[in-house]
Amino acid sequence: MTEQTHLYAVAVGSNRPHGRHGRPPHVVQAAIAELDRQFSLFDASPLLLNPASGGAGRDFANAVAIVESELEPPAMLDALKAIERAFGRRPGKRWGARVLDLDLLAWDGGRWSDRRLTIPHPALEGRAFMLLPLNAIAPHWPLRGSLTAKHLAARLGKRRATH
Ligand code: AMP
Repeated sequence: MTEQTHLYAVAVGSNRPHGRHGRPPHVVQAAIAELDRQFSLFDASPLLLNPASGGAGRDFANAVAIVESELEPPAMLDALKAIERAFGRRPGKRWGARVLDLDLLAWDGGRWSDRRLTIPHPALEGRAFMLLPLNAIAPHWPLRGSLTAKHLAARLGKRRATH
């Protein structure tokens, strides 16, 4: 008998270059390729780029990947943390700065809450870099009751326009 598979929406973000992969957009692409190696990649959003201007500050790159996995949420979080650690290593340093941030935005099992983990991600509503890429590939994914990625992205857009 095969295990039941789940769909997960994973936020992928980077704001530091990686020794081998290079700048944040390449880090995000490499992380999506790693998710595809470990799980099965169902879809990935376009990259959302926020390049640092004038040499100061940092480049930000974000995307959302939808993966299929047999893991339950706690094991899925462990797997994502292991990928983050693997990407955090820089040549010459045992543990370099973390260059990759992976968050579980949502899964097809509805709500999940334990001492380490809350799904859907608690900060989703306020984070355009999570909501916009998710809305690009899964606008009808319900996140808060019947409110979908599309609803929450529209609300965020309105809030921003009036502030
Ligand atoms: P971060 O700052 O993204 O590295 O997340 C730090 C911690 O947040 C993780 O180690 C988790 O224990 C916790 N956490 C709670 N909810 C979530 C979620 N939906 N996705 C990822 N991490 C979460």
